[in-house]
Amino acid sequence: MNLPESVTIVEVGPRDGLQNEPGTVPTQVKIDLIDRLARVGLPVVEATSFVHPDWVPQLADAEDVLAGITPVEGVRYPVLVPNERGLDRALAAGVHEIAVFAAASEEFSQRNLNRSIAESLEMFEPVVRRARHEGLRVRGYASMVCGCPYQGEVPVDDVRRVTVSLFELGCDEVSLGDTVGVGTGGQVQHLIEQLAPQVLLDRLAVHLHDTYGQGLANTLAALEAGVSIADTSAGGLGGCPYAAGAKGNLATEDLVYALHGSGVVTGVDLEGLVDTTGWLAQTLGKPPASRVAEAVLARRHADS
Ligand code: MG
Repeated sequence: MNLPESVTIVEVGPRDGLQNEPGTVPTQVKIDLIDRLARVGLPVVEATSFVHPDWVPQLADAEDVLAGITPVEGVRYPVLVPNERGLDRALAAGVHEIAVFAAASEEFSQRNLNRSIAESLEMFEPVVRRARHEGLRVRGYASMVCGCPYQGEVPVDDVRRVTVSLFELGCDEVSLGDTVGVGTGGQVQHLIEQLAPQVLLDRLAVHLHDTYGQGLANTLAALEAGVSIADTSAGGLGGCPYAAGAKGNLATEDLVYALHGSGVVTGVDLEGLVDTTGWLAQTLGKPPASRVAEAVLARRHADS
């Protein structure tokens, strides 16, 4: 395979994963989770969200979570910021990196973000500008890049427009999200080839869900196409908000296993990561949605 020498894994479990967890997770568990993930070598751990607590009650404790973690040197802890009020809270909490969330699907943007794509980009403009002025790093999400639960197909031109706009606003990096998890390897490679002339590939990330069991294949396809940053969640944390019972984010363990076996460096200690996933599964009272974590835990059980 034609993979990069090293891949930066952006761990999104504590934010994107927990956001989709039905039961309230105690603040201390979130703090422990973030600290454990950083200690096993994940270079970026998306910590929480400053969206209004009425929208995502699970992450209403964002300030307490950030105040409670023990930052590991060199690890980045981005937080999701939906608007200027969220940025105020993030700045007050002393964050160094934020993420903003846009959709490539007009229909999704209207229905879930309550504004058109153009309006959401307009709303982010002062957020990104102020964040940059304050010296923060900014990550942009372009979601629904392979399909949309409402409009179905999402034209590549729309993905390109949103991605380029996010860079033009001042985002340091843009993460392409197959939020529904309907994409395939060929589709992902085609998308990246189409974007490549207009964006810097080393500033592009992929965030590919596993709803149809394609998360790993699609992520590897993106890495073969020249991307070297991938979003995943420990133990596949978080379901899919658009398909009940389906898997959500690609599991971090599954990607780490595939990459290490192919000689790609991630810096992640897989056994340590599985320790964390096993602990979290016990804490949440449900098994991990990761084939690799399941296999490692089963092997350990058989060995003991
Ligand atoms: Mg996700």
